[in-house]
Amino acid sequence: MSSRKRGFLTILLLISAIMLAACKNHQSTKTAAEKGDTAFFAMNTFITLSAYGETVDTALSEAQDKFMELEKLWSVTDEDSEIYKINHSAGKPVAVSDDTKEVIGYALKMAEATDGALEPTLYPVLSAWGFTTGGNRIPDKEELLELLKTVGYEKVMMQGGQICLEERSQLDLGAVGKGYAGDIIAELLRENGILSALLDIGGNIQMIGKKPDGEDWKVALQNPFGDGNYGILSVSDCAVVTSGSYERYFVGEDGHTYGHILDPKTGYPVENDLASVTVIAPEGKRSDALSTALYVMGLDSAIEYWRRNAGFDMILVSEDGDIHITEGCYEQFDLGDASGDIEVYVIEKCFDN
Ligand code: AMP
Ligand code: MG
Repeated sequence: MSSRKRGFLTILLLISAIMLAACKNHQSTKTAAEKGDTAFFAMNTFITLSAYGETVDTALSEAQDKFMELEKLWSVTDEDSEIYKINHSAGKPVAVSDDTKEVIGYALKMAEATDGALEPTLYPVLSAWGFTTGGNRIPDKEELLELLKTVGYEKVMMQGGQICLEERSQLDLGAVGKGYAGDIIAELLRENGILSALLDIGGNIQMIGKKPDGEDWKVALQNPFGDGNYGILSVSDCAVVTSGSYERYFVGEDGHTYGHILDPKTGYPVENDLASVTVIAPEGKRSDALSTALYVMGLDSAIEYWRRNAGFDMILVSEDGDIHITEGCYEQFDLGDASGDIEVYVIEKCFDN
C-alpha cells in the first residue's frame, strides 16, 4: 500500500473512532438524564429526593436506606439509638459509629466557633418546653435555671471512638443532623454516579451539580410572615438551609408565641430582630449549623460573624420585613412578586479600621 493510501486509511479510521466516541457520548448523556424520585418520612421530617443518571434507582434506594440508618442512630426518643444511649449513660463512655462520632464532633466544633449560639446539649431544656415530645408548656424561670446547669458543649468529651457526656446532660442534634445527613447522602449519590440531584430534607435544600439541562436550580425562599415565598435563589452544588421560629412554635396560655429555637444563655425561645436566616454553603452541615446559630445571634452579630468568617453566604429577613443579603449571593437572588415595599440591603465584606 502506498504511503498516501495508508495516510488516507488512518484518517478514515480516526474519523470512525471519533464518530463512535461521539455516538457513545450521546448515548450516555441521554441515559444520564433519566430521572428518579422518592419521598418518605425519616428523621422526624418529610424527605424528597430527585436525581438524574443511569443508576438512579439503586442510588435512591441506597439513599433511603442510609436515611433510615441515620435516624436509628440519632433519634433522641428511640431507646436503641446511639444518641439515646449517650443521653442515658450516667456519665460513662459510650462506643459509637463513625457517623455519630463525626456529627457530634462537628456540632462541638461549630458550638465553639459560634460561641455557644449553636448548643448541642440543649435537650433537657427543649424537653421542658415540650418541643421534643409535643405537649408544649411554659416552664418557669427557676426550672430553666436549674436545667441550664446541664447545658454546655464542654460537657461532651470525645475519646477515640467513645463519647462521654456529663451526668444529667443530654444531646439533641436537631440543628445539625439533617444538614449532616444531606452531606452523607450527597456523597453516597455521587459515589453511585449521580451528577445532578435535588434533595429536600424537611426544607433543607441540597443540590448535586446543576440541573440536567445545565441551568442552576431555583430555590424558593419561604416568607417567614405568612404563605408564599419572598424570593428565589438560582444556585448549584450547594446547600440552602433556613432557620426561624415560624417553622415550629406554639401559642402559650398567655397568648404569646414560643418558637423552637432557644437562646442557650437564657433557655427561652429566641426573640430578636430576625424573622429568618438562610445560609448558602457548599456543605449541608455548615448551612444547617450556621442558620440556627446566626438566628440565635440576631442581625448585627450575624453580619459581624459573616464578615469574620469565610465560606458561606446568607440572607437575613428582619422582623420589620427587610432583607439583608451578602454580596456573594446577591446576583443569584430575585425578589418574588410580593416585593411591595421590602427594602433589600447588600452586606459587604468591608472592614473598618
Ligand atoms: P434548625 O431547624 O436547624 O434551626 O434547628 C432547630 C432545632 O434544633 C430545634 O427544633 C431544636 O431541636 C434544636 N435547637 C433549638 N435551639 C438550638 C440551639 N440554640 N442550638 C442547637 N440546637 C437548637
Ligand atoms: Mg440548623
